[in-house]
Amino acid sequence: MSALRYTTFGKSGYKVSSLGFGAMNLPSVPLDQAREALNYALDHGINYIDTAAAYRNSEEIIGECISHRRQEYFLATKTNARDYETAKSEIERSLVRMKTDHVDLLQLHYVNYVHEFKKIMGEGGAYEAALEAQREGKVRFIGISGHRPDLLVKWIAKGQFSQVLFHLNLAQPFALDELIPTMTEMDMMKVAMKPLSGGFIQPVEQAIRYPYSQDVHVTISGMVSVKEVQENLAAQEQAVGSEERQELEMLARELGQHDCRRCNYCKCPLEVAIPDVMISSRFREKFGLLPKGSGFFERQKERIMGCADYEPCKEKPLCEEKCPYHLPMQQVVQKAASFYSA
Ligand code: SF4
Ligand code: SF4
Repeated sequence: MSALRYTTFGKSGYKVSSLGFGAMNLPSVPLDQAREALNYALDHGINYIDTAAAYRNSEEIIGECISHRRQEYFLATKTNARDYETAKSEIERSLVRMKTDHVDLLQLHYVNYVHEFKKIMGEGGAYEAALEAQREGKVRFIGISGHRPDLLVKWIAKGQFSQVLFHLNLAQPFALDELIPTMTEMDMMKVAMKPLSGGFIQPVEQAIRYPYSQDVHVTISGMVSVKEVQENLAAQEQAVGSEERQELEMLARELGQHDCRRCNYCKCPLEVAIPDVMISSRFREKFGLLPKGSGFFERQKERIMGCADYEPCKEKPLCEEKCPYHLPMQQVVQKAASFYSA
């Protein structure tokens, strides 16, 4: 028996489970483990599977492990292509790889720049291929994913998309400002991703319960084992009451003060992974990080420590010139460096 919540998924009429299976990391584990995790998830009420053409052989794993249960889940994939021809061939390839004649949702993947959006939507763009596939019954709905909630709000205004996939986690509450309320008004499919910010942040239960407490239909959590599916299911066992919701919202406001949207506009010549530093530094100080997050800071140690002495950034930090939100990245990176010796 599942304790998940089921709500009507935008205009699709589908009753979608509040937890979705993020299949991005399945290529990193043995096939039998992936098979067990996917089937366990379906057996326990998860009915939304999210993958992408770009996630190595994730689509093939889905085809191999659960295509015989195709009617039991809403299947969402993505194309990174910006032009018609590439998108068309990627859609065809996704169907073959997942051994199905249609996907329920095709998302235009990782759209963060205005010029890319224009290319996708213009003549000969990927959106044309998505529409064509929809007419042919190969794609039921078209959505979009990106890391700029303020741009996504504008891009959905014409009603060309049925769904948006956005970040919503304790470290990134920004979709709540405008994007989610607008999508609710438009009766769109609201899908939150990365509740653990890519496996970095804890406490895990609170991190999963935060997007669950908000006005979204489904939260995709990346899972690779039965144990992880069980942990995610357990975190959604009880409904969230108003007091807990307020506590989670306060925590998210505090931990989201860095304001980084993970748009990746910034590039560091020392290859400091700035968005990860921005987003997880407060967690690092307050709660500590999950092993993946701690491992990241260990691997980045030299680069992060090097920021303070990097001559070309002394007068004007090169990264900060690129940030559309004018954030003080140099200061945050240098503070993160001081944490190594703390
Ligand atoms: S200020 Fe630091 S983080 Fe920013 S570009 Fe320069 S070296 Fe990289
Ligand atoms: S620091 Fe600014 S430019 Fe870099 S990812 Fe975050 S929001 Fe984007």
